[in-house]
Amino acid sequence: MDYSIEGRHYKTLVPVRVGITGGLISKIEEINGCDNQTLIAPGLVDLQVNGFQGIDFNEAHTTQEEVRQVTQSLWDVGVTTYFPTVITNSDERISASLHTISAACSNDQLVNQTVKGIHLEGPFISKDPGPLGAHPEAYVQGPNWDLFCKWQDKAEGRIKLLTMSPEWPGSVDFIRKCVESGVKVALGHTAASPLQIKEAVEAGASLSTHLGNAAHVMLPRHTNYIWEQLANDRLWCSCIADGFHLPEAVLKIVFRVKSGKCILVSDSTKFAGLDEGSYQSPIGGEVMLDSQGRLSLKAYPELLAGSAKPLLDCIAYLVRTKLLSLADALEMASIKPCQYLNPSAIPGLSPGSDADLMLLNQKNESLTVLKVIKSGQLVHSV
Ligand SMILES: [Zn+2]
Repeated sequence: MDYSIEGRHYKTLVPVRVGITGGLISKIEEINGCDNQTLIAPGLVDLQVNGFQGIDFNEAHTTQEEVRQVTQSLWDVGVTTYFPTVITNSDERISASLHTISAACSNDQLVNQTVKGIHLEGPFISKDPGPLGAHPEAYVQGPNWDLFCKWQDKAEGRIKLLTMSPEWPGSVDFIRKCVESGVKVALGHTAASPLQIKEAVEAGASLSTHLGNAAHVMLPRHTNYIWEQLANDRLWCSCIADGFHLPEAVLKIVFRVKSGKCILVSDSTKFAGLDEGSYQSPIGGEVMLDSQGRLSLKAYPELLAGSAKPLLDCIAYLVRTKLLSLADALEMASIKPCQYLNPSAIPGLSPGSDADLMLLNQKNESLTVLKVIKSGQLVHSV
């Protein structure tokens, strides 16, 4: 089906008509006399989604239909590609989660096109308090290639990103095997030494997962894994820029140092997209979600209990605080992750690229998604 949409290009603000043919952008042409202020932007890409709107990919009872529901809920907030994220757990639970997600993809073409991969975060991470974060320590272990291959089979080859810590013996060999098999390796939840970080990057590790979070409260001031990853120009970096996980000064520095290699992730839990209130969390017990989207432990309100903001809210926050322009923030949550995953792909608003788009309005300090198009199909409209 051929059709076109009109609006202002998110970057140039020039009125354009975007032609869509067979799931791809076929043409982009400037037009005169477009009086609407609607922006046309690339659909958002979120490499770290643990859950959304009451559904958690890590819970044993989560069904294929619920994976589809999360996909629809994410379309509604402008996300056209995401990686369901499965974290440290027992072999059985990880296997079951991977199977459910994979089966949901196999049974629905549009879900399959939206879930471009699965992010396995753990269990090959650090046991140190701080780096461990909210992962259950009992299931943390050193890298195990046979186990990983078994999980990759359960996922029918869909694990495309693995977050691990290179502090374990055998990490270099393991990273090489992952990368050779086509899996991107990210460093995160780590207490690794600077040398171990260097060796991991030499072996093919290419991303720092939510740099600055899941870290020790106190670190040696000069020699530590945060400086080492910031300084390594071969490492891309993902950030949770929700206004709670990292202070503005840290974000500003990460954006400058990793210029061109920075990716926004939501790391959303199932509490994202819910109303404010108190909820029961499978990890951490009772949690509180406030009106600003801050999720904390009820017993220790100063401690965060995960993320509860979709990417679009993170973008609005970055624009409001003037840390980024709207165009730059949008690209860090769309074009940049696509380039990280596939450097040869045609990204964003270009003829030949996937017709994964959103139409949005910027009014005062808020962003409203009006329409979302996935692979040329309208999947959300207000
Ligand atoms: Zn994490």
